[in-house]
Amino acid sequence: MIGEILKRYDDRGTLRDEDIRYILEHEEEVREPLFRKSREITERHFHKKIYVRGLIEFSNYCKNNCYYCGIRGGNDEVVRYRLSKEAMEQAVKAGAAMGFKTFVLQGGEDPGFPDEEITRWLHAIKKIDPEAAVTLSVGERPKEVYAQWKAAGADRFLLRHESYDPEHYKKLHPSNMKRESRIQCLKDLKDLGFQVGSGFMVGSPYQTVENLVEDFRFLKELQPAMVGIGPYVSHHATPFKDFPSGSVERTAICIAILRLLFPKANLPSTTAMQTLAKDGRNRGILAGANVFMPNLSPPSVRDQYALYDDKAAFQLEAAENLEELKRQIAELGYEIVMSRGDYLDKES
Ligand code: SAH
Repeated sequence: MIGEILKRYDDRGTLRDEDIRYILEHEEEVREPLFRKSREITERHFHKKIYVRGLIEFSNYCKNNCYYCGIRGGNDEVVRYRLSKEAMEQAVKAGAAMGFKTFVLQGGEDPGFPDEEITRWLHAIKKIDPEAAVTLSVGERPKEVYAQWKAAGADRFLLRHESYDPEHYKKLHPSNMKRESRIQCLKDLKDLGFQVGSGFMVGSPYQTVENLVEDFRFLKELQPAMVGIGPYVSHHATPFKDFPSGSVERTAICIAILRLLFPKANLPSTTAMQTLAKDGRNRGILAGANVFMPNLSPPSVRDQYALYDDKAAFQLEAAENLEELKRQIAELGYEIVMSRGDYLDKES
């Protein structure tokens, strides 16, 4: 059956909903041939190169209350921090000195952090390295604000849709958070010419196979430049604390599906993978991921940006350990490259 699915894929270049459903329901059977195919496609477009992005987690204040997230506004245990512009610049300079050409600014939806300040930060980063790409991951904003950031030099934007199914989305978020607004934001970002990334957690509470099939269907419509997925990882101070974490294995299968659906998209092997398994990063790469995002946040704040328990940030996730990361990736048969790694189908 997987043989037939892959053969049809070769003819038509895509997977149907029922193919995806079959893959998710037969993980054991499909794993090897599926990964062989996803790696072949990845190699064809990326030639065993793994692109790195320096991740700067600049604020853990958040007005939202996503039930899964450790830095949700309602979690009083969190020691909140917000980087100063100088601290951010220092992190970017340190990264630039190591050769990073993409910086990702990620944070909670921090009402105390004005949108104009992000604009100023964008100018500051482009001053440090005019050729560096900047990715924002700061949640939902009106289109005008996204437009300002684009004008200030932001190149890419990550906004996971989290779940396409309205009922499942509601189970993951309080009622003031609307799935429709998030999807509108993704459309606005695409309109404005950002390289847009979306995605979801694998194994989040209440998620069904059918939810995942819908998530992939939505992504097919969106045609994103990047897709970030990772296993749900439980956090002790959230309403979901008693739900088990998702599985690295199923996430790897989902990465392979994404690679078949989006041969040229940038797909990271995310920190959540490495948090749940000591070879998690490698398993993402062997399933078809071509991006890795080392942590460039000042080490003193890394523990406080805890989206989930035991988040990996100090070993090969740490940008300081780039040389060791390069060695280990080379051992796996891949090569870390420092160039921007823009979306291959990007116009211009
Ligand atoms: N505030 C930004 C960034 C969110 S954090 C935004 O709204 O886009 C980045 C991603 O981490 C989220 O999109 C979510 O999918 C993921 N995440 C949050 N909590 C998690 C958990 N407990 N386990 C795994 N991933 C989680």
